Amino acid sequence: MNKPILLSTPHIGERELELVKEAFASNWIAPVGPHIDAFEQEFCQVTSASYAVAVTSGTAALHLALRLVGVEAGDEVFCSTLTFIASANPIIYLGAKPVFIDSDRTSWNMNPELLAEALQHRAKKGKLPKAVVLVHLYGQSADIDPILQTCNYYDIPLIEDAAEALGATYKERSLGTFGRIGIYSFNGNKIITTSGGGMLVSDDLELVEKARFLATQARDRVVHYQHSEIGYNYRLSNILAGIGRGQLSVLNQRVAARRRNFENYYQVLKNLPGVEFMPEANYGYATRWLTCITVEPEAFGANREQLRLALFEQQIESRPVWKPLHIQPIFAECECFGGAVAEDLFARGLCLPSGSNLTDEDLDIVITEIQAVHQKHQQIIRESELIIDKTFCISNK
Ligand SMILES: *Cc1c(COP(=O)(O)O)cnc(C)c1O
Repeated sequence: MNKPILLSTPHIGERELELVKEAFASNWIAPVGPHIDAFEQEFCQVTSASYAVAVTSGTAALHLALRLVGVEAGDEVFCSTLTFIASANPIIYLGAKPVFIDSDRTSWNMNPELLAEALQHRAKKGKLPKAVVLVHLYGQSADIDPILQTCNYYDIPLIEDAAEALGATYKERSLGTFGRIGIYSFNGNKIITTSGGGMLVSDDLELVEKARFLATQARDRVVHYQHSEIGYNYRLSNILAGIGRGQLSVLNQRVAARRRNFENYYQVLKNLPGVEFMPEANYGYATRWLTCITVEPEAFGANREQLRLALFEQQIESRPVWKPLHIQPIFAECECFGGAVAEDLFARGLCLPSGSNLTDEDLDIVITEIQAVHQKHQQIIRESELIIDKTFCISNK
């Protein structure tokens, strides 16, 4: 039996342990310390963001972001529907209501025209949303220009959820640096990891300082403990920031490895009937955080779920594309503009093993199994046609 081939696992470089040891040696075992400051600075260098705050998770970063742009109970926030639930949960934490927007086919991300329609609709009703959360799915950029233009027209802050898209660009600029605020995740399965962690970036220094303040229990600048606002305990540990610094220094290699995975899958499987790959929109450079395919059951011979189960039997982990948020039970009452594209991508979409630490041999095993599933079903179809032919001959006698 093969060893399991997993979807996306941590890939630690050579510097991380040294940096963690430094934290221990200097006794900065706390949510403050030199690694945190350095991690934030280095993150700004890598992304060309102006200011950054390291926090405990991408979800925490998004929670802070929404609060910083003034989202309050009863407000609406527009959000991509094809994404992980963490993109919308912080909207609920603040007592606000998510309204979902469907994807386009070129990027699988928020459809700019639908967003414009939705905002026009709300403008007519005289109740605009307080923010737009734009997700860059699987490391691919949404079409930011028209989206930003629409948001600017209505004066609505754009928040970029770049949790899956560190290292990706739109027109040669880093994702997460276009909106009022950008957020990233360093969860264990992301392109780089601190085991758990996140980052919030913005060009607005005041906003970033406020984020830092809220993330440390909103402590007033006086000697005693005094609080005039409710904050959170969201700062990243200095130990984890050490891991983050090491990971950041190999980011480009990690992106290259994930793109190479995609290329390997693509070159062999692109001619397989019924298999299509998530496109790379021409305005961006995707990280291919996960390689995603869609499966057309008629042509391929098996549906997405049959393929997933066949891979699973060979100890290969693959996952359906995110179930759209507008069809999640918990969001059943929420409004969605469009939805059919995301639903179709969910029904047919499968994410293949994509870690930057996969070997060529691992990829070969996955590719061979996908080909085998197709061939097996072709065989079944041929055999059943033979049976039909035979019965046809017999009944014709
Ligand atoms: C992972 C992820 C998040 C949340 O990040 P955490 O660090 O796990 O809290 C948010 N949005 C998207 C699209 C993600 O993939």
